[in-house]
Amino acid sequence: MKAAVFYGVGKPLQIEEIDIDDPHGREVLVRMVASGVCHSDLHVVEGKMPFPAPIILGHEPAGIVEKVGEQVTDFAPGDHVIARVTVYCGSCTMCVSGAPNQCINRVSTQRKPNERPRMMLNGKKITGLADGAGFAEKMLLHENALVKIDPDIPMDKASLLACGVMTGAGAVFNTAKVQPGTTVAVFGAGGIGLSAIQAARIAGARRIIAVDIAENKLAIARRLGATHSVDASSTDAVEEIRKISGGGVDYSFEAVGTKQTAEAAIQCLAVRGTATLIGLLPAGQSVEIQPGFVISGERRVQGCLSGSTRWRIDAPRLIELYQQGRLNLDDMVSRHGRLEDLNEAFRAMKAGEVVRTILMFPQ
Ligand SMILES: [Zn+2]
Ligand SMILES: [Zn+2]
Repeated sequence: MKAAVFYGVGKPLQIEEIDIDDPHGREVLVRMVASGVCHSDLHVVEGKMPFPAPIILGHEPAGIVEKVGEQVTDFAPGDHVIARVTVYCGSCTMCVSGAPNQCINRVSTQRKPNERPRMMLNGKKITGLADGAGFAEKMLLHENALVKIDPDIPMDKASLLACGVMTGAGAVFNTAKVQPGTTVAVFGAGGIGLSAIQAARIAGARRIIAVDIAENKLAIARRLGATHSVDASSTDAVEEIRKISGGGVDYSFEAVGTKQTAEAAIQCLAVRGTATLIGLLPAGQSVEIQPGFVISGERRVQGCLSGSTRWRIDAPRLIELYQQGRLNLDDMVSRHGRLEDLNEAFRAMKAGEVVRTILMFPQ
């Protein structure tokens, strides 16, 4: 099968022939139909998130089950599925205490070092960012990675759930637990930010303030549920948010990943407000917090990894919200492309031209 291989920072991704094994035990082989191009992939390409190369990126995959291992009972060939490539084990202390996104025994879902690797490039083992890779014609994963979806759900929309939508919506529903009637500010109106805005609308937030520097993204944000928008390229975002919310917001979400926006997300909080940091800052980057401001107002700052997702519970819920027309995934897909268009998709994402490019695989 073909896959786009990342060879190092500054080098264009190259399409290579990859040898992928048959499924054993609880593994499932999935034929790719659609695969979203996420900002974290771009972070790796740009060196913001260092990863050893060669590696196959892509972690918003949707496809059709082709073959299953002998111990798989929940999936059968022909099933439509979406996958989270960071697979949870289901039995470690994190998994059983309700935080499978923090699973500490992922290794139990992987092949042992003495077994044949799942994927090989020129006879040598190659992996994805985690246990599967989206920028490939097929993926071989432990079944815990998968969630079955109705065959009538468009695969390009469904693929968004695996990372961007799950992260943004999960930050609101799971990590911050936004309450009805409250005020929310979201920094960054990309895939994650727009999902947080939609989740805040679904949760019943009274005022939802979108902050970005691109007017085209703020326009989408208003369409998806933002009641106010702030163009941070021409105004002081913190001052504007305080004005709109009457002194500060109950919840802020940072989905850009810069020192400036992370600090602004804290500074715009109301008394007893909570800032949830989602965007990944470059390794080694610190942010400054005024302890007096945090302590006197009992403000909170917390991190959010993958929307604190409990994948098997959350994904079906989000799909149902989409089917009911309450979660808009259609407007979050900006462009479609092919595997060969990946370098262009990264360029467009970096230039802020797109929310998401979805790679489609001819069937
Ligand atoms: Zn676990
Ligand atoms: Zn992602």
